[in-house]
Formats: sequence, structure tokens, C-alpha cells
Amino acid sequence: MELLKRAVILISGVVQGVGFRPFIYRVAKKYNLKGYVRNDGKGVRVEVEGGEKDILEFIRSVEAQKPAMSQITSLEVDFKDNLVGYTDFLIEESIKDDRKEVSISPDISICDRCIEEMLDPSNRRYLYPFINCTDCGPRFSIICALPYDRKETVMKKFTMCFECSREYKDPTDRRFHAQPNACHVCGPQLFLYTSTGRLVGEKMKALEEACKIVQEGMIVAVKGIGGLHLVCDATNTEAVSLLRQRKRRLEKPFPVMFKDIQQAREYTRITPHEESLLTSPQRPIVLVQRLQEEKLSPLVAPDLDRVGVFLPYSPLHYLILTKVNRPLVVTSANISREPMIKDNQEAIEKLPQSADFILLHNRDIKNRVDDSVVLSVGEKRVFLRIGRGYAPLSFKLPAKLRKNVLAVGGHQKVSVAIAFEDNVIISPYIGDMETVESTEAFQETVFTLFKLYNFWPEVVVSDLHPGYYTTKWAQLFSEENQLEHLKVQHHIAHALSLNLDADVKEEILYVCWDGTGYGFDGNLWGGEFLIFDGSNIARAMSFRYFRLIGGEKAIREPRRVALSILFQLYGKDILRLNIPAVFSFKEREIENLYTLWEKGINSPLTSSVGRLFDAVSSILGIKHTVSYEGQSGMIMERFYDPSIKEFYPFKIENGQIDWSLMFFGIIEDRYKRPLAVSKFINTLSKIAVEVSKMYQLNIGLSGGVFQNGKLLGRILKDCKKEGIKVYLHSSLPPNDGGLALGQLGFILKMVK
Ligand code: ZN
Ligand code: ZN
Ligand code: FE
Repeated sequence: MELLKRAVILISGVVQGVGFRPFIYRVAKKYNLKGYVRNDGKGVRVEVEGGEKDILEFIRSVEAQKPAMSQITSLEVDFKDNLVGYTDFLIEESIKDDRKEVSISPDISICDRCIEEMLDPSNRRYLYPFINCTDCGPRFSIICALPYDRKETVMKKFTMCFECSREYKDPTDRRFHAQPNACHVCGPQLFLYTSTGRLVGEKMKALEEACKIVQEGMIVAVKGIGGLHLVCDATNTEAVSLLRQRKRRLEKPFPVMFKDIQQAREYTRITPHEESLLTSPQRPIVLVQRLQEEKLSPLVAPDLDRVGVFLPYSPLHYLILTKVNRPLVVTSANISREPMIKDNQEAIEKLPQSADFILLHNRDIKNRVDDSVVLSVGEKRVFLRIGRGYAPLSFKLPAKLRKNVLAVGGHQKVSVAIAFEDNVIISPYIGDMETVESTEAFQETVFTLFKLYNFWPEVVVSDLHPGYYTTKWAQLFSEENQLEHLKVQHHIAHALSLNLDADVKEEILYVCWDGTGYGFDGNLWGGEFLIFDGSNIARAMSFRYFRLIGGEKAIREPRRVALSILFQLYGKDILRLNIPAVFSFKEREIENLYTLWEKGINSPLTSSVGRLFDAVSSILGIKHTVSYEGQSGMIMERFYDPSIKEFYPFKIENGQIDWSLMFFGIIEDRYKRPLAVSKFINTLSKIAVEVSKMYQLNIGLSGGVFQNGKLLGRILKDCKKEGIKVYLHSSLPPNDGGLALGQLGFILKMVK
């Protein structure tokens, strides 16, 4: 007879709330092993007794066949000499633990098997909008505390009916320990309210009414997984126009939800890589190419050749999209610039201004999560925002930190991160710190992470910008609690974020191009080349400075940036120039602005490449004022012609990229938009290549400018031709959503 062995196996990573224990149970049974599996604060602990060969096979199967949404970051096996004498394999109750190193699973879209059941008239969950199983359903959005157990989620107020609790307790059932498990009888239900708060229907009636209302061209607020959305018919221009007015969102594109990939294809061109992103369990919004002759309202994404597309990810969305049977605008329900609304009471108080009806349910949203947004460039996934499906994001550092660190990010697109030892947890996208509500959401997120991970920082790290809300908060918070406060320069944080995110192991040139970030010289940087050799980081080169006339105002008015460039090239005498940007001003205005420019009054210096996009767009008459961040660059993508290979001349002198020759060329081509836009983007790519060659270093790209798919695509192609390796972000956005990780990177790599 074979000698019996005992093994203790510790597995960490995303292993809770993803069907890991039932999976272990099934595999253990298969190899006839005895023992137990349980969740603890560190992940999953398994003890097995059986033949040594069976145990080894068991471990191999666990690694090879793990549940789709799980991630194993470590699996430690410890063979013991003595036997306990287990007689069966059991799934044990969770153990509470002080150190919480386990990663929380993000929310997961409805799985195929649940869809099948939901559409089966003989199933007891027929058309139930909250159907879920261990492979799918809400996770982070419903968690109050760890470990992930029903009593620590918002589901604790729903007592499971006999049938549901039988499934929940049966290790062979797909709903074994599915914490949000529920049905028509015992689970959450829908309620439809008018904008004045009158209840007009419940359950199926609420759903049917809401769908009818959307078909009639009205706007319905719908409570989903991580917050509320405003929903309307994307093919009905009147409805979309009404939504724009009420949301006070003039031009910023709305995402569109399609019932399935076939329907999405009638409106957009979807590559196989984009399809794999759209149908992945994370179901992000993917920015895809629109078809020329599609029938979406032109107000959905004005002036853009791309539109954000996503597929239903919750059973409720699935039912609505199927019933309405046309593409719907599904956009975060919020008052202009505030965070997405998530609570019923708040919805009824705030949404009457924007929604005709409000479709709510009584499953609370504990943690807000916005939809994730991604872009596919040359088969590479580029995040524009990490939220539902991807965040909270667990990240392993290459070495251990000596202290607990909180990183608070920047000012726009803020995500925060906590770190202990080599564990990093990055929060979902919170938003721009422009309103009181956003700053409250920021604090709420920080303290939620503290609570979930039983965490308290010893060091707080922020941006260098003295005016950022997050910097000031970090200052105050660290003073009050006697913590260390460190500030990291914006572009250094971008570079170190990329260094960790792309796992860079060599000395490279970090190309950090973005809107603006506060520089060491007090100017606004944004066109930087940094070199990091593993212990030192230095600014190797940057774009030549120009002025932002009127500071903040110049960010909303690209024509002011254009004017500033023109002043720098031609002096005061620009009226004679036949340039659209100039015509957009009155003569008197130009004189006043010249005075501001010349004296440098409220006109800070900047090297920002993002602002150069603005200048070009105004010089070409594409956009003189913008209504959202990055708009001119996004519109310019439409004019890019990849068959144009030429670029403008430029000079590299004294560590500076001199753009004057480029602008002379752009001014000459100003009435040939596709040519000028293409040559401008090609020039930027050429600049990156030239600097890379000068230093004989591979490059990495970080900063908001690299959300531009056309520029990114061009650089990847040009570098490939030159044999230059390009590092891109992998799990985080290149924009300021990635700053928090870079701030942690600074502590890890630079603070000795
Ligand atoms: Zn499912
Ligand atoms: Zn039930
Ligand atoms: Fe930035």
C-alpha cells in the first residue's frame, strides 16, 4: 500500500469570491484526498492527506485548471511527516485574520450559464435580474469587510430561501458559497420611480415599464453594479440631446451599450482583439472605429471617429438591452463632474433633474466602481480608466517596502493605492478632484481600503504640485497623524509607474508626455524625457517652453496656446497672418493677450505636448475652445492618414526639442488638415525615435498623450523599424490614473 502524506498548501492572489474553494473541493475529491480548504486573511489554505503522487497531481491540476477569474500569485506547499487522519474533504468556515493580504476580486460580468438559465422559462430564476453564481456577479461593489463571506456583504439583509440555501451549501453546486446568491423569492428586487419619487411598479413590471419608457425616447436612471447610469436610446437624437442638456455635458462622448457583438458590428468596425476585450469577463468600454453609414445619433460622440462600446455585464443590463433591442447610451449618472451616484436616497434626491424615471433595486452598492475604458492599439490593450472588472487591482512589487505607504495620486483621474511589504492595492478610478463630492469620494475610497485591509500608513506620498487637493490632503493628514509626507515630481511618478507596470529591467528613456505636471523649476512640465538607471532618475531632455496665456483658461481655449506659439515665432505682428486661430480673436483681444504673454502675467511656462496638440488643432481651425480635457487631440485622430509618411523638420539643441520649424510647416499646411495632422503626429514619433537613438536606449511611454491611438500606433511602427523596444503600461492607464503606483515606486526605488 502506498504511503500516505499530508501537505499544507497556501495559495494567495485573487482567490476569494471567484469559486476557488468549490474548485479545490472538486479536484480534491477527484484525487481522493482528505482534509479541508478554507479562506483566511492571506488567501486560501488547503490541507490534504493522501498518496504523494495524488497530492502532486492535485497541485498540478489546481494550477492548470484554476477558475477563470482567479489569479494565483503564490502557491506554497509544505509536506508534513505526521498525519491528522482526516476522513473526508470539507470546506471550512472562514477564519478572521488581522493581516489581510488577500486580494479582493473585482466585479465579474454575467456568465453564459447564468444567461442560459435566466432565459429558460422552466428555470426558477427565469428573467431574474440578479442571477449570479461563483463564476459571475458583483464582488468588490458589495463587500463591507474581509474575508469575503455573505455576512460581510450587503447581501446579509437577504435571508436565503430553502432552494437558494441548499445550493449555497452544496459543494457540487455551481452556487456553492456564491455570496450574492439569490432568487425571485428571497433576493433583491426592482422598483421603478417617477422623477418625483412616486413608485410606479415593482419587479418585472418595473423592468417592462422602464424599457417602454426608454423606447419612447425618455431618460431612465438605472442602478447597476457599481453605481447608477443614465440610459436613453442612442439612435434617437432628441433623447441624446435632452440627456446632454440635462447632464450639462456638451460634447464629451457617451458610451453605447449593444445587446451583443452582432448588433455592435452593425454600427462599428471591431477587430478580433477588440472583440476579445468586449466579450471578456471584465466587459470594459472599448473605443472602436465607427462605421461611416451608421445610425447612431451624431450627438453620441460629436466629431469623433471612435465610439465607446460595451456589452451588457449584469443580468439587469442584459434584460433591458434584449427587451429594448436597440443600442443605448449608458453613461454614469452624476451631476456635472461629481462622482457617479450609487445610493437609492441620493438618486431620488439628485436625479430628477436629469432622469424621467428611476429604476432602482434594493441590493446596496457598498463601493462605487465606474466602468473601465480601454483602447486596442496594434493588438495591445491600453487602459484609459481602470474600474469595474479590473479594480481594485492587486499588484506585486519586485521587493518589499519597509513601511506601510499610502499614495494619493494627482489631481485628475485619481486612483489611490496602499502598499504593505510587496503588496499594492490600487483603487478604482475616483475622478477629477474638481468638486467637493469628488474629494469626499477620494477620502471614502482611502478609508475603505484602510478598513478592508486593516491598514494604516506610516508614509503618505503625493504629487509635488502645491495646489493639488490631494497634496494638501496628504499634508494635513500626515501632520494630524504624525506620518511622514513625501512629494514626488509628476513625471518621475509617471516614469516609475511605467517602470513597475511594464516590469522594466534595463536602463531606458522614459518618454513622459502629458497635459501638465508641476516641475522642479516651478514651470508646468509635460514634454519630458527621463532616464532612470535603477537608482537615479534625471530629466535628460524636454520640449522647448512656451506660455499658457491665462493659465487655466488656456487649457479650455486651445486658441490661446496657438496664439502663444505664434507670438513666439512672429512677435506681435501676427494679424497679417492668414491663420484661423488668429481670426477667432478680436484685434483688441490679441493686443491684450500679447501684453500678458510678453510680461508673463498669469502665463506660466510649459513644455506640455498635450498643449501642443491644442495649438495645432486651433491653428488648423479644428477646435478653438474645448469642452472636455483632451478633446482636440481626440478630434485630430479623425484626420490622421496612416499612408502619409512625411514629417516636419525639428531641431534638438541644448537638451531641448525646438518645435519652431515644425510649426512653420504646420502653418504652411494649415488648409490641408489631414496632411498637417498626420505630419505633426509623425514628427512627434520621429522625435521619440531620434532621442532614443541619441542616447542609444530603448524607450517607455507614459503620460496622457499616449491615450492617442494614432500617435501610439505610429511610434510602435517607427520603433519596430529602428529596432527600438517600446515599453507600454500593462495593467494601468498611461494617464494620471497610474501616478499612485509611480509614487510608491519612488519610495521603493529612491528612498534608501
Ligand atoms: Zn454565473
Ligand atoms: Zn432564493
Ligand atoms: Fe500626467
